[in-house]
Amino acid sequence: MENRAVESICFVVDRMLGVLARNLRMFGFDAVYERSGDFPSLLLRAVREGRWLLTRRRVKQPLGSDVVLLNISEDPPEAQTIQVLRAMPGPPPPDRWFTRCLRCNDLLREVSPEECSERVPEYVLSIHSSFRECPRCGRVYWGGSHSERMRKSMIRWLKDAGHGIHGDSHGPKSGLFAGS
Ligand SMILES: [Zn+2]
Repeated sequence: MENRAVESICFVVDRMLGVLARNLRMFGFDAVYERSGDFPSLLLRAVREGRWLLTRRRVKQPLGSDVVLLNISEDPPEAQTIQVLRAMPGPPPPDRWFTRCLRCNDLLREVSPEECSERVPEYVLSIHSSFRECPRCGRVYWGGSHSERMRKSMIRWLKDAGHGIHGDSHGPKSGLFAGS
């Protein structure tokens, strides 16, 4: 129940918060990053699309709107991420982790090793069989040690935000790591 509420959360993030947007995408969240948006256009998008609005600006909750607005007060992106996770009713479900392109925000799709062989180093093809690609930028992701480090950070952020995740072992068998 809790998880379902968390799954439906999505974000619009202001231009000061690019790393935060990327961190939220690691968890599978739809986090739109507005590079050029001024505050009124960010707010409009948040209202229209039911997104949480994350901003560095010190702004008050707009009157008459039920938009969730978080003023991100922390400086380091890790602390910002924990601040956002803490505001959620529960932890993001591990089966959604690593399902989005960290660069584009698009949902990844499964591809066979043959389909991505041109874009993946040979040694990676020889030890991995599961690949996903971004339909927008074509970047290929696969399991690897780097994503294992990411996963550990993500579990730590969740703990610091007060969310235990039931059975860490239920997470993705391997995270995903992108080629260049
Ligand atoms: Zn992409």
